[in-house]
Amino acid sequence: LPARTKSTRLFSRAMPVFPGGVTRATVEKDPIPFYVAYGEGAYLVDVDGNRLLDLNNNFTTLIHGHGFEPVRQAASDLMRMGTCFANPTQHEIGLAELLVDRIPAIEQVRFVNSGTEAVMFAIKAARAFTGRPGIVRIEGAYHGAYDWAEAGQAVDPNLSDRAAIPRAIPAYHGTPASVADDVHLIRFNDVNGLEQRLDALRGRVACVLIDPMPSRAGLIHPTATFVETLSSVARKHGILIIADEVLNLRQGYAGASPRYGLTPDLVTAGKIIGGGFPIGAVGGREEVMRVFGTQVNKPLLPQGGTFSANPVSMVAGRVAMEAMTHENFNHLEALGERVRVGLESSISRTDAPFCVTGASSLFRIHPKRLAPTEYREALQNDAQDRVMKELARHLLQWGILLPHGAAASLSTPMTNSDIDLIVAAFDDFLNVHAANGRA
Ligand code: PMP
Repeated sequence: LPARTKSTRLFSRAMPVFPGGVTRATVEKDPIPFYVAYGEGAYLVDVDGNRLLDLNNNFTTLIHGHGFEPVRQAASDLMRMGTCFANPTQHEIGLAELLVDRIPAIEQVRFVNSGTEAVMFAIKAARAFTGRPGIVRIEGAYHGAYDWAEAGQAVDPNLSDRAAIPRAIPAYHGTPASVADDVHLIRFNDVNGLEQRLDALRGRVACVLIDPMPSRAGLIHPTATFVETLSSVARKHGILIIADEVLNLRQGYAGASPRYGLTPDLVTAGKIIGGGFPIGAVGGREEVMRVFGTQVNKPLLPQGGTFSANPVSMVAGRVAMEAMTHENFNHLEALGERVRVGLESSISRTDAPFCVTGASSLFRIHPKRLAPTEYREALQNDAQDRVMKELARHLLQWGILLPHGAAASLSTPMTNSDIDLIVAAFDDFLNVHAANGRA
């Protein structure tokens, strides 16, 4: 495995000052993290000089990879003028116009600083608009850290009863039990469950919160019937649809929803739209967005935030998104196709118990023969977890950083030869493991 002498030294300094040695639970450590020195295009270089092909891209954020020159230039020019003001700047209008132009469901937008905040304000907006407290969401999907958005995460990995109705429970010890009263879970792609639940809960539910391809729940395609049923039943009961595209907006020029025939009332965004700086956004139909403010009345839902729409994120985001032309989306689409097809052909050649899910510039390898259709099928037992850890280690030896239990993502500076390296490394892993009789 790549040497980690300097990272080890840094981690021993970090241990006393951070709980668990890190400042975010999601930092990957096996057994310690790689401390980054700098990033360069599709690669990052750690403090020990290891150069790694980055398939994490800060959890899918860096669609242009690291140190994208137009963003570096625009952000450093901007910083000479000051980095945040209580006044608005022209830069927020520029990014808003781009999102309104590109994304059909976004007529108006509000900026915040993270995906968590975007989802929180989208839920609050749906509540304010409908006057109802409840939300319906998909079991196993991740939407950030707002209590109502995360209730229900703690599912027993050994549960396999597909007939049972999933029940929301507060995500963490000490969270008010009442949170769960207003969170209702459904299974991804469970058409009957969706219909029954929405019919039974009508009048109590403000919105359905749905990521069109929830990454943590398996990065699985929604079925057309599921999307159609969601749209018609939600409309029938005046329930709003919030498409959480914080991660999946990178699936296309117009985002993810149009790709799957979903027409949301509100859309949340984050990650790629900040060009590598902190950002979140909630956008949607003008009629619903009115809860945040009108020219005349006091808003139903005043939303602020000291750093919201800070000009650095606005400018970086605008420049990064402008560079996401149709051509660049096509480039990522082709790379994504190449990696998924390549991995799948290695799997069928070796008849190994693996499968691949994902779309566009995203993919996930599962240690399972059958492609999962929803969260519980995607859950991994301890043995499968160990296999994935071994795979990540194997890819590291090839100089590839594969995120564990999350979507792998591609970036515009990647080329066919980067993709072929990923496939060759995976192929080698399957050969080694077939030889060991373990895969
Ligand atoms: N929603 C989705 C779908 C996400 O993937 C994430 C982050 N991975 C969030 C919300 C939360 O975003 P942030 O980490 O910026 O708070």
